[in-house]
Amino acid sequence: MAARVVTLKVPEATLAERIYLVEIVKGLARTLSHFLKNLSNIKGLPTIQYPEMLRKYSGRFRGRHILKTREDGTLKCVACYMCETACPAECIRIEAGEHPVLAYEKYPTVFEIDLLRCVYCGYCVDACPKDAIWMTKDYELSFFDRKSGVLGIPELTEKPSDTAAGGPGYGYRPYEGESPMRKAGQFEPSGLPLLPALLERGVAINRMPPPPPPKPAPPPAASPGPSV
Ligand code: SF4
Ligand code: SF4
Repeated sequence: MAARVVTLKVPEATLAERIYLVEIVKGLARTLSHFLKNLSNIKGLPTIQYPEMLRKYSGRFRGRHILKTREDGTLKCVACYMCETACPAECIRIEAGEHPVLAYEKYPTVFEIDLLRCVYCGYCVDACPKDAIWMTKDYELSFFDRKSGVLGIPELTEKPSDTAAGGPGYGYRPYEGESPMRKAGQFEPSGLPLLPALLERGVAINRMPPPPPPKPAPPPAASPGPSV
């Protein structure tokens, strides 16, 4: 089959276009009209005047981490290493110690996150069985040296300023965006009750269907009679 040749016809520039001067004036007039239009409507500009203005981010924003505490002020973290294992950037370092309160068993004597290696994926939040690590909407992270990018327990422990008005507020955290009933730890929308031991976490009972009854054994094969 013969190939079809397509010729593109480029329109010739007019005399005014070849002089360029007219086009330059047209371009400047367009720029000036936008400038004057924006000047008369500064508040309506889509540009965010950072840092005076801050963009509003969703509750799933993945910013700086915080370590949650119990009512008695101790860290919820039980130093299980799940977050450290799940972290793809290998930027979490934990050392476990024996907790003075027997019921808590273990706690982190060292808990460090290298924010300069972190990729803010939120896997640590997903992996934590105790909801001990959340993320905030704090993205104003700047450091003068690498060492100050490594946050330890004092910096990571949640502070009132994290959630106060004007503070960054909570970002990505367990069950963000899920049903209010599940958040309240009462019942699943399906009506399934929750295991009492897991109420703190709001995990629903995983009701697997009962295993099928064992199949009856096949009858023994009839032995062949004596041959005649
Ligand atoms: S957000 Fe991701 S990369 Fe950062 S500490 Fe958590 S698991 Fe690691
Ligand atoms: S997964 Fe949770 S409880 Fe386990 S070490 Fe990490 S923060 Fe602590």
